[in-house]
Amino acid sequence: MSDLTMTVLGCNSGGPTRGGGASGYLVTAESTSVVLDLGSGTLQRLFELIPDVPDAVVITHRHVDHMADLLGLYGYLASERRAGELRPTLRVIAPQGVEEAFFGALQAGPTHGYRDIIVFEEPPLGEPVAVGALVCTFAEASHSVPAVAVRVSRLRRSLTYTGDTGPSSSVEQLASDTDLLIAEAGNDRGQPPLYPYHLTVGEAVAMASRSDARQLLLTHLHMAATLDDVVAAVAAVKYAGEVQLAAPGLTIHLEQETF
Ligand SMILES: [Zn+2]
Repeated sequence: MSDLTMTVLGCNSGGPTRGGGASGYLVTAESTSVVLDLGSGTLQRLFELIPDVPDAVVITHRHVDHMADLLGLYGYLASERRAGELRPTLRVIAPQGVEEAFFGALQAGPTHGYRDIIVFEEPPLGEPVAVGALVCTFAEASHSVPAVAVRVSRLRRSLTYTGDTGPSSSVEQLASDTDLLIAEAGNDRGQPPLYPYHLTVGEAVAMASRSDARQLLLTHLHMAATLDDVVAAVAAVKYAGEVQLAAPGLTIHLEQETF
C-alpha cells in the first residue's frame, strides 16, 4: 500500500497521564515506518503497532515530552545487543541539543560501547531526506529551544507536524497544500499573557487555513483547555477543512489518488 497512514501514539502536552502518553506519531507507507517524536509514555503503543523498530525517529526538539521514550527504545535495543542480536543502527533525525540531552541522560560518553546503537543527524532545513518509501522535509519552528517542524510525503500525499512552535511563517510554508496538518495548540491557558512559543487553538486553525491544509488534527492541547473552549476557538476562525482532536490510537489514512 502506498497510502500514507498516521497513528497517534500520544498527544498530551507536558507529560503522560493514565489515559495516554505525551507527543508521538507513527507514520507508515508500504513497509517504511517513521516516528515523529517519542515522548514519555508512547513506546509501548509503538511496540503494539509495529513488529520491529521504526526505520527512523524524528525528534522535533529536546523537551522530555517529545523525546523521553527514545531512552526506552535505546534500552530495548541495548538489551537485544546484549542478547547477541545485531541490528542496523537506529537513525534519529533531530535538531541541535537533542543528541547532547540524550547522551547526557544516559551518561554515555563518546567511547561508550553501545553508543553506535543510535546515530543522530541534524535535519537539513528545506532539503528532502529520504527514509525508505517516505520523504521528510524540515523547517525551523519557533520554540524556546532549537526545534523543527517536519513534512512527511509519499507520492502525492503528505502530512505536516508542527512539533512545538509559536506562530511561524516557515512552518506555515512547510505545510503549504498539505493533506493533514498536525498542529500543536498548547497555548490556551485562558488568561493572558500568552507564552509565545506555543500556538493557541485559533492560531493553529489559522495556520491550517493559510497553508491550505486539507484537514487539521489539533494536538498537544494545554491541560487546562476544555472541550467547549476548543470548539469555540475553532469556530471563530474561518477554515474550510475538517478539524479533529488528537486521541491516543487515532489513525488517519491518506489515500493516494487513483486515475
Ligand atoms: Zn517543547
